[in-house]
Amino acid sequence: MSHNHNHCHSHSLGHHHDHCGCSCTSCHHEEHEHGSQRGKIIQACAAALLLGAAYYIEHTMTLPTWQLLLMYLVPYLIAGGGTLREAAEGILHGDVFNEHFLMAVATLGALVIGFLPGAESQFPEAVFVMLFFQIGEMLEGYAEGQSRRSISKLMEIRPDVARIVADGVERDVAPSDVPVGSIIIVRPGERIPLDGIVVDGKSSLDTVALTGESLPRDVEEGESVVSGCLNQSGVLRIRTTKDFGESTAVKIIELVENAAERKSKSEAFITRFARVYTPIVVSAALLLAFLPPLLAESYVGTLPTWIYRALMFLVVSCPCALVISVPLTFFGGIGAASRQGILIKGSNYIDLLSKVDTVVFDKTGTLTYGRFSVTAVHPDNVDAQHLLHLAAHVEHFSTHPIGAALREAFPEEASDGCHVTDVEEIAGQGVRARVGDIMVCVGNAKMMETVGAKWHDCSHVGTIVHVAIDGIYAGHIVCGDMPRDGSEDAIAALREEGVANVVMLTGDKREVAASVAQQLGITKYHAELLPADKVEHVERMIENGNSHCLAFVGDGINDAPVLARADVGVAMGGLGSDAAIEAADVVLMEDNPVKLAHAVSISRRTLRIARENIVFAIGVKLAVLFLAAWGLAAMWMAVFADVGVMLICIFNALRVQGINSIFQNQRR
Ligand code: ADP
Ligand code: MG
Repeated sequence: MSHNHNHCHSHSLGHHHDHCGCSCTSCHHEEHEHGSQRGKIIQACAAALLLGAAYYIEHTMTLPTWQLLLMYLVPYLIAGGGTLREAAEGILHGDVFNEHFLMAVATLGALVIGFLPGAESQFPEAVFVMLFFQIGEMLEGYAEGQSRRSISKLMEIRPDVARIVADGVERDVAPSDVPVGSIIIVRPGERIPLDGIVVDGKSSLDTVALTGESLPRDVEEGESVVSGCLNQSGVLRIRTTKDFGESTAVKIIELVENAAERKSKSEAFITRFARVYTPIVVSAALLLAFLPPLLAESYVGTLPTWIYRALMFLVVSCPCALVISVPLTFFGGIGAASRQGILIKGSNYIDLLSKVDTVVFDKTGTLTYGRFSVTAVHPDNVDAQHLLHLAAHVEHFSTHPIGAALREAFPEEASDGCHVTDVEEIAGQGVRARVGDIMVCVGNAKMMETVGAKWHDCSHVGTIVHVAIDGIYAGHIVCGDMPRDGSEDAIAALREEGVANVVMLTGDKREVAASVAQQLGITKYHAELLPADKVEHVERMIENGNSHCLAFVGDGINDAPVLARADVGVAMGGLGSDAAIEAADVVLMEDNPVKLAHAVSISRRTLRIARENIVFAIGVKLAVLFLAAWGLAAMWMAVFADVGVMLICIFNALRVQGINSIFQNQRR
């Protein structure tokens, strides 16, 4: 906790953060909350003592009712002043039926009953209800703070300063003031403030806050690094490649912060439910108070008895247990996922993930590493070196993993001064470009067919990259890729979660697809697809009605349209890929498809707990409502049915994050 505090502090001191209004306000909010929390505890203790004293005096002396009232009014106002004010504010703002209103009416009613002829005084009950309600609110604040903190562990990745080097002098500046292309220095123990490329130094990075992966990642000169990672061992000089606002750390934080705004169906339901339910209960209470005594006073008892029952009715009926615990549960689910490096963009996706029964995987980069390397070169009528030379040049601007492999196989490409113009990349096919004065096409069989080159197949297993020069076939290059370590486990884990239908889609050759599918235990796959075909396949699967909820997992390279079309789009390898973070609903920060199975299981757990809370709260409340109407309940039962149930629901909601994590947060 103290850590968090420091963090807040350095923020309020540094006024230069113009991008980060959001997190700063949340920091201030927390600080503010802290102060008032202590005040509330003191208030509650004072009210409890005074209540005890008043109770003692009432039972040792005989005082007139108005003096008793005055005596109880002191602790009542100490405990309930805030609630009364909130109720009044609610009425002024047109939001009448909130929990404060219910509590105010119920307790004021209990105070007034004492003056009705033939009624017992209910003063202690009124104070007790207020006191209990306040304690409930306090614990609720604590629980909420707890889950907010677990999410704000993520916020710790927000960098405060960047050490910039200009004219040989080091200076600390706000990360938002660092222009792209600056050189910054990051010492061991410091967080990398901006995305960039290492220009000097060697170190290992702790990425656990971003990915949930505790194994450090080694980096050296020339490698790219993302903001939010902790530098562990060496001094790094980094040339920044992004502005602060575009950097990974800030993007992730924004994403998680906005997640709370996308409400799940269950949350929206609860809000609507409360809006309809509360007025109904208030009317029912009015009827309960006045109707029976008016109709048949001699049989059923007097007005004060019924008013008392109606007041209990009001206390019980308060829907706060649900209104508070259900969103808290979803919030907790998002937090639990983010600690594992799974970013879920809204609680509506928790709803969806829990229902997923079909998972469609992209092959390259998702189930496989997408790290191709050239395994063979088979030229037709040209020199092998020349073939590689042309292929590497054409792929100069390509972000596709195949492009990277070809450039790697011909390292002189970047520096030999050969001109590449008219570059045109065709998604799912390849690239076409002019190298010097010849037109070169590099791609798969489909690409060869569109340019009319007479390609022939190859006996090697692997992805065959064909090359055509001025429309004439010039041979092919074989590239190899490997299934990821985690892929097989991911598919097994999904099956274990009850996801029956696992499908692989790829733009690659049928043979390669078959071999990968067989290695991973996937029975359904479709190969040789263009990105548009993938969308069509996914659409067909959704429309067939065979799947209630379909998740597509891709690496974000050329499958953004599919990510958008699926019920849940899951992007893998969020670190460094903006396209993925933007197009997807769920981002797996670490390149490991197993995390999808974790996401499904966290979502199911979240929903199960939310449901438990709904059933439990409504069940207890209905029971006590009936008891109250029949005159079988006492005020303490009503208070339990409200505040007690709320607390139980809240603590149940905290279970989503795992008991361990709550204690972990405590220690910080
Ligand atoms: P996947 O569906 O497995 O992710 P893609 O849709 O990215 O694969 O690509 C499908 C096929 O198109 C690749 O297997 C490759 O043959 C060809 N291809 C795509 N982009 C390129 C490129 N830049 N250079 C060469 N071939 C490419
Ligand atoms: Mg792909």
